Amino acid sequence: MLAVVGVPLDENSSFLSGPALAPPRIREALNSGSMNLCAENGIDLSVEAGWRDVGDLKLPSGARAISEIESAAAGLLAREVRLLSLGGDHSITYPLVRAHAQRYGRLNILHLDAHPDLYDAFEGNRFSHACPFARIMEEGLAARLVQVGIRTMNPHQRAQAERFRVGVIEMRHWNPDMRFEFDGPVYLSFDMDALDPAFAPGVSHHEPGGFSVRDILGIIQNLSAPIAGADIVEFNPTRDPVGVTAMAAAKFYKEIVAKMLA
Ligand code: MN
Ligand code: MN
Repeated sequence: MLAVVGVPLDENSSFLSGPALAPPRIREALNSGSMNLCAENGIDLSVEAGWRDVGDLKLPSGARAISEIESAAAGLLAREVRLLSLGGDHSITYPLVRAHAQRYGRLNILHLDAHPDLYDAFEGNRFSHACPFARIMEEGLAARLVQVGIRTMNPHQRAQAERFRVGVIEMRHWNPDMRFEFDGPVYLSFDMDALDPAFAPGVSHHEPGGFSVRDILGIIQNLSAPIAGADIVEFNPTRDPVGVTAMAAAKFYKEIVAKMLA
């Protein structure tokens, strides 16, 4: 069984709030009648029994939110086997990966993002959405971390990437023929600002020079390793006036669920 769960937390965002509003907007787009529920691989989520949406987590604020996400995810993993989590800002990935590592051991992680999110701390917050992969790597939760689409490296984060032996494919070096191979299951963490803001304006940090929707679909569809778990984070509905980012998020929801079920 695969569970889709909303994780409505954005208090670790450094610039704007809004991603906590994302999970219901993504569901609304998915079920709007504008698109059918058939993914490109032919799996029709409207008839497929192998998944269900379990709604949103009810979260406290502060550090307790991070531990609550971990324990709620661990509880779901114990019953549902696999999770697609809908953020929320990127701070939710650290407790989600902790829960997955407890169940599956050290993971391969494929991280799609404009930003490396490797700050030791950001504006005094070690749980900032700019820090999750520093926490993950210093705890040894990942056997391998591959980041793709990065276009905001600074000297501190470059040093962190070297310290943690992160595989970084910067956006300027990416090409559509690249394939990402892993020797076991992969946790996919997809920050929507990996997309160019032309395709997904509804994110807090507009970082031009990014992926098209089709580029990301290709990366996901061409993955040969099984997906052990996934998240879609950083969609900010307050910056999405015509709803195009919500539709993109719904498309990725559908494609990731179908890929995990294939
Ligand atoms: Mn991020
Ligand atoms: Mn980002």
